[in-house]
Amino acid sequence: MIRFPGRGSAFADTHNSALFSCGDELVLIDCPMGAFHIIKKMDLSRYNRISILVTHTHSDHIGGIAMLVDFEYFIGHKEVTVIAPNKEVRSDLKFFLDNLDGCEDGWYNLIDVSELKADWFIEAIPTQHVSGLEGKCYGYLLSDNGERFVYTGDTRTIEPFKPYLEEGTTLYMEISSHKSNVHLYAPDMIGFINEYTAKGIRIYLMHIDDEQMVREMLKGTKTEFAPLLGDTDIKEVWSMTESDNRALEEIYNISDKLYNEMCSNKENDHATLFSYLTELGKTIVGADRASFWKWDKRRGELWTQSATGVDKIVIPDTTGLVGKAMQSGSVIITNDPYSDPAFNQEVDKKTGYITRSVLVLPVADVYGNFIGAFQLINKLPEGSKFNEEEDVHKLSLPALICGIALESETFLEDSHHDKLTKLKNRMGFYNDFSRRFNSYLEDGCDSPLSMFICDIDKFKRVNDTYGHNAGDDVLAFCASLIQGACTEKDSAYRWGGEEFIMIMTDTALEEAVEKAEELRKKVEESDFPADGNTIHCTLSFGVRQFDPSMTIEENISVADGHLYTAKETGRNRVIYQ
Ligand code: GH3
Ligand code: MG
Ligand code: MG
Repeated sequence: MIRFPGRGSAFADTHNSALFSCGDELVLIDCPMGAFHIIKKMDLSRYNRISILVTHTHSDHIGGIAMLVDFEYFIGHKEVTVIAPNKEVRSDLKFFLDNLDGCEDGWYNLIDVSELKADWFIEAIPTQHVSGLEGKCYGYLLSDNGERFVYTGDTRTIEPFKPYLEEGTTLYMEISSHKSNVHLYAPDMIGFINEYTAKGIRIYLMHIDDEQMVREMLKGTKTEFAPLLGDTDIKEVWSMTESDNRALEEIYNISDKLYNEMCSNKENDHATLFSYLTELGKTIVGADRASFWKWDKRRGELWTQSATGVDKIVIPDTTGLVGKAMQSGSVIITNDPYSDPAFNQEVDKKTGYITRSVLVLPVADVYGNFIGAFQLINKLPEGSKFNEEEDVHKLSLPALICGIALESETFLEDSHHDKLTKLKNRMGFYNDFSRRFNSYLEDGCDSPLSMFICDIDKFKRVNDTYGHNAGDDVLAFCASLIQGACTEKDSAYRWGGEEFIMIMTDTALEEAVEKAEELRKKVEESDFPADGNTIHCTLSFGVRQFDPSMTIEENISVADGHLYTAKETGRNRVIYQ
């Protein structure tokens, strides 16, 4: 199969070259320097011979030949044959390779097509390009394992190639988006392309100066871009080291786990997600330990999940290398941590671990505010050092993902909470319901789920008498009493205004009523702070054990009905039927 190391022309990185194989022979059509740099990285072990068929002597077509000759002579030890289209070009090549590029006789063979005996060669086709190459510029009719193809090389006319274009022949045609009289100008070629593709000629475009423009200019024609060495070729041919391969494979494995975790994440905290991300950072850079620290600026704390993912480790945000990185907002690298006063040696002292090198990379949200940091400890292989340029470069991807994940976690957390009472709000309620409570309403669940909704009595009067700030104080204090009444089975929410809901898992109606009654008494007996005043408040309650055959809203609505009855029948009471 014919493949292109690149399909650009003169000034592109990889250009003006194609390759295919025939038995143990690798055939290159032209070999500019860009192509040489790719070819030398290919796995050439199955070839014994390399042939380079030259179209013309411009250096964007032959500038890499001498390098390839040298490379094979000194390193690859394959026989290299350079094939000129005629005797004149052969003599130019001889001059160029021997005199200018220092290849010695015996390092390569140089022949012209009249001496060539090869199954893949059919005919050299003289064409015209720049005037200086009059009589020295060729295209070819070749056979790639029995499939005939015409390769134009650089040309200013398609005419010489037409007689060779029979049905089934593939044409690799140069094309330009710029009008000159030395290349085939795309808009001028549309008629030819339509005519010949209609005849069953497959046309591939190569030696392109501007792919985007050519694509536009030839829109609607049946042309294709010449096939590049693809991913599979590259996997086979690029000489990646074993360890590169293993690292890549590991990265794919972790990203895969991460992706699945994201898709199935039912937990409210994202411990697993962050642990995969730290694993990713650790693997990409190559370190013995990794941790991701979240910065709680409100509390002045940095915290991380311990390696087991169970406990939280919390430190003041002014301590340690992570604290230093957070405060300064800059990368910290030390390959001699014990001599850095900011380094906290306690953990090492306690555990016997020896920290030899540390890298801390601060992580920002999309506004550029620092929200956490990635920390890597002990660069691998053992004894090596962190390198700012290289390792930060590698760590930036997982750090970026961590930053975004952390930010969206914080954002979701915030949107589920009420700032005034610090309780979860209605959004938090529905989120918890879908993640944690729904299972109580499923068929086959014997564990009862109950709730109450409560509302502060005559609350408007508080606002009217003492002002809105006093009202806020009362709401916050009331919320703290409700939160204080929660056991680990219960969750409290601000439903809206001065209404609150408590959800009680594993709790039947009777117990829920008791709980509501206790809270009612507690509120009745409490002194409420209210913007410098002390006042008294009461709550009315509607209690309900969830009926699984009804929707959440229908259940709440029944509880709300009971609350209404409580209000109607004198307030400061608990109604459940
Ligand atoms: P009832 O016993 O029938 O429940 O009487 P009420 O006065 O408590 O009920 P009403 O619905 O008439 O008034 C509720 C008031 O709560 C009106 C509203 O301004 C106030 N409110 C709602 N949210 C807030 C808040 O966040 N802060 C303050 N200060 N007041 C709030
Ligand atoms: Mg009220
Ligand atoms: Mg109300």
